[in-house]
Amino acid sequence: MGMQAALHLIYPPQCLTCDALVTTDFGLCGHCWRETPFVTGLVCDQCGVPLPGEDSGQPEHCDDCLTIARPWSQGRAAMLYKDNARRMVLALKHGDRLDLARPAAGWMLRAAQPLLVPGMLVAPIPLHWLRLIKRRYNQAALLSGALAKMAGLDHCPDLLIRQRYTGSQEGRDRDSRFANLATALTVHPRRANRVEGRHILLVDDVMTSGVTFAAAAEACIAAGASGVSVLALARVAKDG
Ligand SMILES: [Zn+2]
Ligand SMILES: [Zn+2]
Repeated sequence: MGMQAALHLIYPPQCLTCDALVTTDFGLCGHCWRETPFVTGLVCDQCGVPLPGEDSGQPEHCDDCLTIARPWSQGRAAMLYKDNARRMVLALKHGDRLDLARPAAGWMLRAAQPLLVPGMLVAPIPLHWLRLIKRRYNQAALLSGALAKMAGLDHCPDLLIRQRYTGSQEGRDRDSRFANLATALTVHPRRANRVEGRHILLVDDVMTSGVTFAAAAEACIAAGASGVSVLALARVAKDG
């Protein structure tokens, strides 16, 4: 009997979001799996939002991505930001359930398959240092670190830095939010040599309008990245 099997006799693996026992580690029971809105089927190739229709193998784009300039090439999300997915994101964000980072990164890796290219550098969207002190960790960095490890890609947790406090994004319109962020996110001067000529995979816990990813992607491209793709654990969808 292996160590893992022996441990399971003492501590049978539990569902990530309820008390039910499950047969594998880092999994959900059948009920919670059905209650978790994983993104499946046809999605927008650039932002990962689900689209109606069948996957024809050709990249499709949503109305937002056809009208808003997105400075990245492809994007995906593992889940929609609602129901059980929203609860998991909040539990991770508030530090109650850091153990969710690894299974969540596994689901993100599955969603990210069409995005992965050899030599890609994985980097999280940073928290501002004031918030980092308050929260003690960056949940996006936990996800990007676990994901990079599983995918066998390089990880740079401090690739991007926030130059100044951007305050709350609430109550601002899209242009003002972008202006607020665009000057705030920049490539760490000591990490610029890692960006040059490489494709960057930016990771965040939640993607809403995409302004944060846009600002981060602009910063990477300004620092010489050959391209940028984006990956979120959960995507806020308008009709969600
Ligand atoms: Zn469950
Ligand atoms: Zn889109």
